[in-house]
Amino acid sequence: MKMPRPARIMDSVSCEECGELTMETRTRRFRGKTLCIPCFGRIEQR
Ligand SMILES: [Zn+2]
Repeated sequence: MKMPRPARIMDSVSCEECGELTMETRTRRFRGKTLCIPCFGRIEQR
């Protein structure tokens, strides 16, 4: 009997730039990295 996984309501992922835990829906993908919005904006502006 398998253990059911917890319901995925709001998955949090950590930003690969600053390590901040961010809701998956509030992250952005950039070149294979998962970034929070502030990091995404900062990197994209360069
Ligand atoms: Zn970040």
